[in-house]
Amino acid sequence: MRNNRIRLQGILYDGKSSFLRGPALAPPLIRDAYNSESANYFSETGIELRPDIWDDKGDYEVADYFEIEKITALNLDQNQPLITLGGDHSITYPILKAIADVHGPVNILHIDAHSDLYDNFEGDKYSHACPFARIMEEELANRLVQVGIRTLSTHQKEQAEKFGVEVLAMKDFDNDSIPDFNEPLYLSLDIDALDPAFAPGVSHHEPGGLSTRQVLQIIQKIEVPILGADIVEYNPKRDINGVTAMVCAKFLKEIAAKIIENKV
Ligand code: MN
Ligand code: MN
Repeated sequence: MRNNRIRLQGILYDGKSSFLRGPALAPPLIRDAYNSESANYFSETGIELRPDIWDDKGDYEVADYFEIEKITALNLDQNQPLITLGGDHSITYPILKAIADVHGPVNILHIDAHSDLYDNFEGDKYSHACPFARIMEEELANRLVQVGIRTLSTHQKEQAEKFGVEVLAMKDFDNDSIPDFNEPLYLSLDIDALDPAFAPGVSHHEPGGLSTRQVLQIIQKIEVPILGADIVEYNPKRDINGVTAMVCAKFLKEIAAKIIENKV
């Protein structure tokens, strides 16, 4: 069982949100939902994910955005995958800096309503609308595949072309269109990829999104090792009866099961 342990960190940070604050409150609520007595600890794939599978590093208050890379570097171990609970999506850039320091450039599967490829957003290059521009500029990823996208502006389309990003637009989505990966993967999951009907607890309600089931199928179809993942943009202030927290907890469980299942 010890070999199957997965590191977990929570980043209590939403200082780079462009519209609403709230995601900094998310990590403890996702943990509570994960441990809720309303559900058991089994993944759909039959793996039991009791609390002792987690090497839990706890939640971090972040005063300065650039601390996130240092926190992640301290919590990172080459042989143990790391899942991060956010936080707004800006945290993925410093996390990837730390990950690439250990693993080199990675392949990224990014599930989101937004491509987050702005060169800057309202003058801020570290906005939650920009992390994947920074990641691609600094060559922290060999490959970036984006799924669920339904807000592509002309500028972001140009950025995607410039960086060679594989954008699978929501309007063309079908589960068989997700490309196969042949190397270990980093999974970045922005909860607003889901249709707001399934996950109302997000800052940016973007209709016409993925169902909870479609995201679960994407996770369950991953055939390569997962070296890290993040679940970001859950905004408890917008949630209804904690339903989105349960969605996040469900994804956490299925990602953890997949990490264990595909472990090298
Ligand atoms: Mn995002
Ligand atoms: Mn988004």
